[in-house]
Amino acid sequence: MSTLTSSPDALRAGTQVAVKQILPIDVLVCGGGVAGTVAAVAAARAGASVLLVERYGFLGGNATAGAVAQFNSWTTASGRKVVGGLADEVVARLAAYGGAAPHESFVMSTGHHMDRVPYAPELLKLVLDDMVREAGVQPLLHAQMLDVRRAGRQVQAVFVLTKSGVMQIEPRVLIDTSGDIDALHRAGARFLELDEQDSLQPATMMFRFGPIDFAQFSAMPLAQMQALSQQGYASGALARAALHASRDPDSNDGWFNISRLALDATDALALGQAEMEGRQQAWRAAEFLRQHVPGCADGRLRAFATQVGIRETRRVAGDHVLTAPELLAPQHFDDHIALGAYPIDIHAAQGSGLVYEALGDDHFYQIPYRSIVPESLDNTLVAGRGISATHAALAAIRVMTISMAVGHASGLAAALAVQGTPCGTPVDVRSVAVGSLQQRLREQGACLV
Ligand SMILES: Cc1cc2nc3c(=O)[nH]c(=O)nc-3n(C[C@H](O)[C@H](O)[C@H](O)COP(=O)(O)OP(=O)(O)OC[C@H]3O[C@@H](n4cnc5c(N)ncnc54)[C@H](O)[C@@H]3O)c2cc1C
Repeated sequence: MSTLTSSPDALRAGTQVAVKQILPIDVLVCGGGVAGTVAAVAAARAGASVLLVERYGFLGGNATAGAVAQFNSWTTASGRKVVGGLADEVVARLAAYGGAAPHESFVMSTGHHMDRVPYAPELLKLVLDDMVREAGVQPLLHAQMLDVRRAGRQVQAVFVLTKSGVMQIEPRVLIDTSGDIDALHRAGARFLELDEQDSLQPATMMFRFGPIDFAQFSAMPLAQMQALSQQGYASGALARAALHASRDPDSNDGWFNISRLALDATDALALGQAEMEGRQQAWRAAEFLRQHVPGCADGRLRAFATQVGIRETRRVAGDHVLTAPELLAPQHFDDHIALGAYPIDIHAAQGSGLVYEALGDDHFYQIPYRSIVPESLDNTLVAGRGISATHAALAAIRVMTISMAVGHASGLAAALAVQGTPCGTPVDVRSVAVGSLQQRLREQGACLV
């Protein structure tokens, strides 16, 4: 048996695979989830040349490939709007395609109310395509980030494996929105450790099930739903004691978020096993729905998500590490670039439960610019689920509304940083005048204090 080995150094040196193309660009966005796509659009609309690298043939990440199917938490419990801007535009465009339900207040399995927008993941792909195309972003799909060349505090080049060979991209600013923050990992950035008592949040294989009689399903009293969830968990049919579903806006199907997979999704072998186990869990859960849950008797498992949805992997160490106390007793940050009102929501890696810290009625919090600036580099930013936050703080700010709000700010900041720096001079994202950034974000509909 032979072993095939290769190293990024060999790739760079061209001894195994030659670099096919060198692309200089203002802003490289690595990872086309919702955070990355919105970042790319914001940067391009502000006048930067932008390349968006994504390993799949479509954009959206967890929002499409992971079929999460609901944007959570646009307002505080009392109705104060905390997320707007490009995130609002995504929803408006989805609605125009018939792919988003109106905002609704829904009761979570914990009994708490949440303002959410259920949407169709397939149609979100079209919306993100439209936004990227119209903004003039250059999409580089089916492109896997491989390695990064760094000199001191600057990222100089990012190497990407594509169908046409290895491309060398030379960005003035890199925004890492790969969720797992792969590019900054390759650049040798420092990452935050989990505390001893914590585990990474588990992953979930979302699945589509239908038809459902939603008149029956949604009318189930909370106590009955909780009792059925416990019954399903105790019998081994459900990996998580929940019957949480988001209704497809255009059919009587629901996307169910009720499987649970404990893993480190940056471990390639574990990730493959989790995909298979996730599909088994979904199959067992669908059988339980059919046999026991009101409104589900005629349903069938219709589709798995393209991949397991990943809640948490790496969190980069930034100039500021956002903590749970700063969210729970909201801290004012002069350099805040986004707000949020989603509670701390930690899915236990083992067992059935959730740690859920509800917020007060008009409770919202702020996310500072310094939490998206990786500490040891000058020309990089981060957005989405890998920003500089503790495990508990990330459990609140990871949702897609906030990921888009932070993505919006990161893209605009990158464009401003490039514009404020003469060509040929290294860019420092810390040179951005945060007051101007905040002003521009407000003009674009973002919610700030
Ligand atoms: C099961 C589940 C349920 C959730 N429920 C909700 C909910 O109800 N409401 C809500 O608002 N949020 C929810 N969330 C949270 C939310 O979906 C995520 O936190 C959010 O989508 C993160 O977005 P992102 O763009 O940062 O990352 P991701 O969605 O992970 O996107 C990263 C992108 O980078 C690409 N990529 C990764 N590595 C590379 C590489 N090396 N090269 C090239 N491309 C790469 C990926 O393909 C992907 O497109 C849920 C998450 C999960 C997993």
